[in-house]
Amino acid sequence: MVKIERCPRPPASLAVEEKKKYGSYSEPDVVKQLKEDFHDKCYICELKNLSDPEVEHLKPHYNRTIKERVFDWNNLFYVCRHCNLVKSSKVYDDKILDCCVSDPEDTLKHVFVNGHVKIYSAPEDEQGQMTADLIENCFEKKDTGIRIAACHHRIKELSNTMNIFYKTLEKYKQSPTSARYQKSLNQMLNRESPFAAFKRNYIREHISDYLGLECGKTNENTIL
Ligand SMILES: [Zn+2]
Repeated sequence: MVKIERCPRPPASLAVEEKKKYGSYSEPDVVKQLKEDFHDKCYICELKNLSDPEVEHLKPHYNRTIKERVFDWNNLFYVCRHCNLVKSSKVYDDKILDCCVSDPEDTLKHVFVNGHVKIYSAPEDEQGQMTADLIENCFEKKDTGIRIAACHHRIKELSNTMNIFYKTLEKYKQSPTSARYQKSLNQMLNRESPFAAFKRNYIREHISDYLGLECGKTNENTIL
C-alpha cells in the first residue's frame, strides 16, 4: 500500500445520485477518476491493470444505514474484487489506514521472502496492525478454493515483479553510472508501479547500496 493523491474535487455524479432513493456511487465519472488517482491499481494488493475493479468504501456504510458514507468521495477506493471480499470481514470495520490521508510507508513494512508476504507494523499501532493483517491476508489467506487461486495469482505476479527488480538492481550494481538502469529502477520504484511498496521497502532496507538512485535522494521522488 502506498500513498495516493486523490483528486480533491468529487466527481459530479455523486451529488446527483445522493438525492435518489437508490443512487449509484459507481457511475462512470467516479470509476474513471478513481482509476486515474489510484494508477489503475488495487490499493490493497497493488495488482495493476485491474480487469475486475470495484468501488469500495473504506469505512463501511452498513447497508446504506450511514448514508453520508455511501456518497462521500473521500470514502471511495479503487480495489480488486478479491481484496474487497477479504476486507468485508467485520474485524476491519473503521480500522484500516486511509492511504489518501497518511503515508502507509511511514508505518508499514512490506516484505516478500521465500514466496510469502509478510507485512509489519508497530505493535502499539492498532490501525497499522489491522492494515498489515488485511494486506497480508490478501496474499496469504487461502481458506477457500477461489481464494487459493486469487492468492496464487497475486504471489506469482509479485514474484515476477520482484525477480525483474532484483535482476535490474544487479545490473545497476555492476554499472552504477548507466543511465538506462537508473531510469528503469526509478520507474520500478515509482508509486504508480505494481507492488511498489515491496520494492521501495527493499531499497529502504539496503539504501547504502543504492544511494546513486534518484529515489534514494531527497527530492519529490524520495522514498526516505
Ligand atoms: Zn487487490
